[in-house]
Amino acid sequence: MDYPRITTDDRADAVIPLSHRDAKQVDSKVDRWRRENPDAFYTYDVEKTGGCVVQFWGYRIYYGRCVDCTGLVTTRRKISHKKEGPTWTGRWPKYCTECNTRKREAHSDAARARMRRLRAGERQRPFEFSEKRS
Ligand SMILES: [Zn+2]
Repeated sequence: MDYPRITTDDRADAVIPLSHRDAKQVDSKVDRWRRENPDAFYTYDVEKTGGCVVQFWGYRIYYGRCVDCTGLVTTRRKISHKKEGPTWTGRWPKYCTECNTRKREAHSDAARARMRRLRAGERQRPFEFSEKRS
């Protein structure tokens, strides 16, 4: 078999792949849509917490009520870097900053108290295992 030889001149109109750096400059369809719709505005309710989310300018902003004290819970999460696939940002917070701090400190205090009790208990009966063996 004799195939025709492909020369450089034949491939003059061929697509030359971009370098990685140049390829990053090319807009995706998400980029183009965002540029054409700069003031797109979305809002939806969060059923699990009874709060709501407002989304604009590449951010998702959550407003809700604290489960414990019904104070305002608000969080901002960036989604502008998410350009393909889902833009999930995880669950929204249940507690306000004060309640969160209080709960975290209570958790740490309980752990410290447990450890303290454990150490005190060990000191009271230090040779328990060796006595059983002999
Ligand atoms: Zn609270």
